[in-house]
Amino acid sequence: MGYSKEIYTAAAAALESRGKETRRKLQHNKSVAYAAVPALEDTERRLAAIGGRLMSEIGKGGDLQAAMKQLEAESREVRAQMDALLAQAGFPTDFLEPQPVCGLCGDTGYLRDGLCECHRQLLTKAAQEALRACAPAYDFAFGSFDVRLCGNEEDPASGVVPCNNMKKLLDYCRAYAEDFDLSSPSLFMHGKTGLGKTHLSLAIAMAAVEKGYGVVYGSVQTLLGKLEKERFDKSSADHGEAEESLLGCDLLVLDDLGTEFSTSFTLAWLYNIINTRLMRNLPTIISTNLTPEELEARYAERITSRITGCYVSLAFFGRDIRQIKSATE
Ligand SMILES: [Zn+2]
Repeated sequence: MGYSKEIYTAAAAALESRGKETRRKLQHNKSVAYAAVPALEDTERRLAAIGGRLMSEIGKGGDLQAAMKQLEAESREVRAQMDALLAQAGFPTDFLEPQPVCGLCGDTGYLRDGLCECHRQLLTKAAQEALRACAPAYDFAFGSFDVRLCGNEEDPASGVVPCNNMKKLLDYCRAYAEDFDLSSPSLFMHGKTGLGKTHLSLAIAMAAVEKGYGVVYGSVQTLLGKLEKERFDKSSADHGEAEESLLGCDLLVLDDLGTEFSTSFTLAWLYNIINTRLMRNLPTIISTNLTPEELEARYAERITSRITGCYVSLAFFGRDIRQIKSATE
């Protein structure tokens, strides 16, 4: 669960607002019930007093068991009176109890042995929202990927029929997404622009998020830009978070390799990211419009050899789907 700090913050804020809402509802119920049955306020006070006496018995260190037995009996009696008063006035007996959204953790988000399922769900929801915000033009679904659009004329260089090739790629990516875990291989998607590399990588990213994995998606330019800001902009509020999430997230999707400004900073960091993630066995998906030859011409051998040697290569052929789509719309 390598989530970025924003995801944890968003989930914590959602838990906090659940807690606030529960307290507000309880306060509201109390004022309604006390107005209808003033004696209820007295039973609540007596219950609180029993709690106070229990604490002082613990402090005294005497015969705690006997004291607890006595206090429990008193508490049961007051509760029975309270239930009767509530029932007489037509309120449910739990009307003065907090009603958290999650009964397991009481909306704290934690159980004794770790995160509560509700907390995991909030993290997943925050991660889904963050991913959607990265690429609002996409629907993140494999189902909307139409392999027929890329054409059935044989590619002269490779002898491959594009729509057949695309069907294979789609099937591969679907299976990859379905089986995704931290042992999944890294993928290198290459081919001309408009062939669906971003669409498929986003569909994989969303599937991984829905499985509870922390995913970072962005163009190489944007992600390295964040890193550069974090490193050199003293006024930046980030303290190593971009670096940590690029190196340590469960799945990193680096879109559009080759469109970034090439500087010694970007080259050094590309190598660091690719190498560190391989060493840590964390999957990465890189997409590029560059051919493998162009890649080798642009980047140092230590970068390209890692990509071509350690990533599963997915070659995209065919006609520009985006152009065809806009022409038929
Ligand atoms: Zn919970």
